[in-house]
Order: sequence, then C-alpha cells, then structure tokens
Amino acid sequence: MTAPQIFSLQGKRIWVAGHRGMVGSALMRRLDSENAEQLTVTREDVDLRRQEQVETWMARQKPQVVFVAAATVGGINANNSLPAEFLYDNLMIEANIIHAARATGVEKLVLLGSTCIYPKLAPQPIPEEALLTGPLEPTNEWYAIAKIAGIKLAQAYRRQYGCDFIAAQPTNLYGPGDNYDLQSSHVLPALLRKAHEAKIADAKSMTVWGSGQPLREFCHVDDLADALVFLAERYCGEMHINIGTGDEISIRELAEMICDVVGYTGKLDFDPSKPDGTPRKLTDVSRLTAMGWRAKTGLREGIAQTYRDWQVEMENAADRRRQVMS
Ligand code: GDP
Repeated sequence: MTAPQIFSLQGKRIWVAGHRGMVGSALMRRLDSENAEQLTVTREDVDLRRQEQVETWMARQKPQVVFVAAATVGGINANNSLPAEFLYDNLMIEANIIHAARATGVEKLVLLGSTCIYPKLAPQPIPEEALLTGPLEPTNEWYAIAKIAGIKLAQAYRRQYGCDFIAAQPTNLYGPGDNYDLQSSHVLPALLRKAHEAKIADAKSMTVWGSGQPLREFCHVDDLADALVFLAERYCGEMHINIGTGDEISIRELAEMICDVVGYTGKLDFDPSKPDGTPRKLTDVSRLTAMGWRAKTGLREGIAQTYRDWQVEMENAADRRRQVMS
C-alpha cells in the first residue's frame, strides 16, 4: 500500500540547490512533470558557503520547497585527499540553507546525504538506526561528519521550531551528468571510462583499484529523483530515510558487467595499492518499500543507458570544441 500524500508540490516554488550536479539535474528533469515553478541559482551568483548571500537570495526568492542537492562530493580518492574542503563546504552549505529556510518560511525541505554516514562495520543491510553506533570509514569520514551534522540540523529545526525538514540517504548513485575524472570520480563512471578507453586503445588490460572484493549497491539517479519527490509528498518525520535498490554487487562483478556492456574483452588488473574502502555498503530500504516506493532501473540496463548518455555528452563536448576552434 502506498503511503498517503500529505504534501503537494503542485503550484509550489521549488528550489533545487545544486541543480547542475548529477542529483540536482535529475531532480529538475523529474520536477518537469510536476506542475510547479522551479527556481535555480548558479554558483557564480550565490556561493552557498556564504551565509549572507544565501539569506539574501532566499529572502528575495521565497521558495516554498527546497531540495538540498548541493554538496562538495567525490569518490574515495577525492574524499581522502581533500578533507578540509569536504568538511567545511558541506557544513556551510547545509547550515546556511537550513537556517535561511526556517527564516523564510520554507514549507518542506529535503536534505540529501549519503549512506557513507553509517559506521564502517554497520550491520548489513544497513538500517537507518545504525547512525552514530560506531566509528566511520576513515576514507570518507570528512564528508560523513558533515552529512551527519546536516541530518541533525534538520532534526533540530523540526524539534525546536516545528519545521517540516526531512533527510534522505541515497546509496551509491550513477547516471547522466556523472563525474568521469579518474582521480575524483566514483567507481562506476571510472570503470565505464576505463573500459571504453581500453577498448578503443585495444589494450590488453585495464586497472581496477583495490581487491575487487568490496560490495556496493548502485541506484540510478533518475530513480533517486523519483524517490525524493515521493518522500517530499508522502513523508514527514525525524528519521532520515535510506534510498537504494536493496541489491549489491562486488566491484569485480561490476567491472565485468561494465566491460560486457562496453564490449571490452581484455583482462582486469587489480591494484592493491589503492584502498578498498568500506567492505560492504548495502542499505536496508524496508522503510521506503513499506511506504510503497521501489527502484525501477536494473543495474545492467542502467549502465547501458549511462554509457549511451556519456557518449552523447562526449560528442556534444567535442562539437563545442570544434565550434570554438572554427
Ligand atoms: P566508496 O563507495 O565511497 O568507497 O567510493 P568509490 O565509488 O570511489 O569506490 C568504491 C570501490 O570501488 C572502492 O573499493 C574502490 O577501491 C573501488 N574501485 C575500483 N576501481 C576504481 C576506480 O577506478 N575508481 C574508484 N573511485 N573506485 C574504484
């Protein structure tokens, strides 16, 4: 049974903070099918880390609904090597938006976190209650601490001021608009790129970081956007909610699936000098499932779609470069 609708996005002024990112742009696509007014602001116009800029813009625009999809994010390497940026940027963005949202009377706010907020050795699948029950995975603790503070801020503003602010924790995401830079990306786009380039170069092998044994769950970003709209309209509560598929795959199997989709038939070389990160990260999605929501995109189908989207993106970027040069 689907949870009843308790809030409507129809006709609302909705601000997707971070609308150019992978999650934000998926949300914008999803919100196109709601009869709502979409507000956006670019980084050049408002630096979300600056309180005064955020407060001034929100007081002027008066959004009724806010999705906080803006964040400094990255894969295992970026997270590990830019600790100050990951902690400072994310704390400031969340604090500024949440505080201004209360001051300007935002009716519903959905804060996005990530499942890396959970302890490294959390029970699997990870229930929402596992938050703050043990030490974090050291490679992403900076981002995790900031996101935990964000969840707590949303809870605190609900408790103290009665604000309808909720928090959602998506599992590892992929899809159009992802980051394909090999130093800072997450595993799925990195392996897609590596397999594509290895195929073109007719290389004998491609490198996969770590042992290939860690287990991860992957959710298509369009499914996530749908879940966020679902939660905005049907959930009101203090507990943060996990969003995922409930399925997991090892990094080795993921690499094999990606090679298969791309059509690369060479060998996989595992590089043990790179970190594995947390051994397993599967979310318990029973709360969301009980409300009546399920992911629709199968992993293989989602990877094939993402590969096509990325090739179109690369062609468009090449066209733009040619136009600039001519
Ligand atoms: P995590 O889920 O926070 O650990 O972030 P990632 O998506 O960056 O990494 C997930 C797992 O994939 C880790 O065990 C990585 O070592 C592994 N992995 C294998 N090859 C790659 C790669 O080329 N890039 C990244 N980012 N991770 C890789």
